[in-house]
Amino acid sequence: MKRAILNAVLDATGITSYRWRRQPAGLYCFNFHRVGNDDGSAFHPNLYSCTGSRFAEIVAFLRSNFEMIGIDQVVQLVESGTVPDRRYGMISFDDGYVDGYEVAYQVLLRHGCPAVFFLPTDFIDGREVPWWDRIAWRVAQLGNGTLQVPGADQSIRITRADLKGSIRRVLRVVKDSPSVPMLEKVVAIETQVDCPDIRESGSRLFLSWDQVREMRRGGMWFGSHSRSHRILSHLSEAEQLAELSESKRILEAQIREPVDALAYPLGGLDTYTDFTKRAAKACGFKIAFNFHGGMNRDPAAHRYDIQRITIEGNMSVRLVRRAVAYALSS
Ligand SMILES: [Zn+2]
Repeated sequence: MKRAILNAVLDATGITSYRWRRQPAGLYCFNFHRVGNDDGSAFHPNLYSCTGSRFAEIVAFLRSNFEMIGIDQVVQLVESGTVPDRRYGMISFDDGYVDGYEVAYQVLLRHGCPAVFFLPTDFIDGREVPWWDRIAWRVAQLGNGTLQVPGADQSIRITRADLKGSIRRVLRVVKDSPSVPMLEKVVAIETQVDCPDIRESGSRLFLSWDQVREMRRGGMWFGSHSRSHRILSHLSEAEQLAELSESKRILEAQIREPVDALAYPLGGLDTYTDFTKRAAKACGFKIAFNFHGGMNRDPAAHRYDIQRITIEGNMSVRLVRRAVAYALSS
């Protein structure tokens, strides 16, 4: 609430507009997850960035305010060491959900706007459900109660009235207990909530390789988001190297061209390490994206730490503009 009042004051006094105009040349990356209607379905509700119609508004807004470029031109910028002389914009999608094809790609085609889709290759073309959706499903089925996560001291209260908050709390504890392997945590949660397995729901959640190739022919780009989308900083060095190199190999075999870009799964500062960045470079990635907000005044200076602005909660164009106005330079 306090934040809302502060924002209203900053907007009304013209400070937001002033900052928007004064933001420097550089690379502004806008990251999405799912696009479409959060219809209260079983899956992780916090992953919906915006509806399809809102996405179309945001793309139109970005196209009229930024020079929108694909990952090929972004890689060119960092390879040549060029400090941007204008405001470049780039759209990215993490996780490879099928709505990236069914909704987002159709909008991008209509606007002639490129985007890069970062894929966790184990999920593409398969019916596997990722750990965050398996957990969200069990939390939603529990309704009211408590859950115990292995490796965490305290049980977590779940309330039907605050389902999104409950899911967020459980996922935070899951992410903050690196000593226990992810699968063990997921299975432990599943055994505490007796309900049908989400994996039996039947529908395909992620893109198929045919859709990926069709999108590539339509001008979209693809990058790695690891193989299994586990948190890299929780893995051994050998496991991290395998996640990065194998996802790159699988992608390149499927789309038959070099894959230069990586987005760290989750991408917060504690989800990858200096080793991860060295591993990305050793595997042949030319650029890597994290997931803490901000713009990149000189992307070549931190090419394995490119910052992205998060689009979430069905943000209006006005809120996207504000996110740009207050984006800090790296
Ligand atoms: Zn992700």
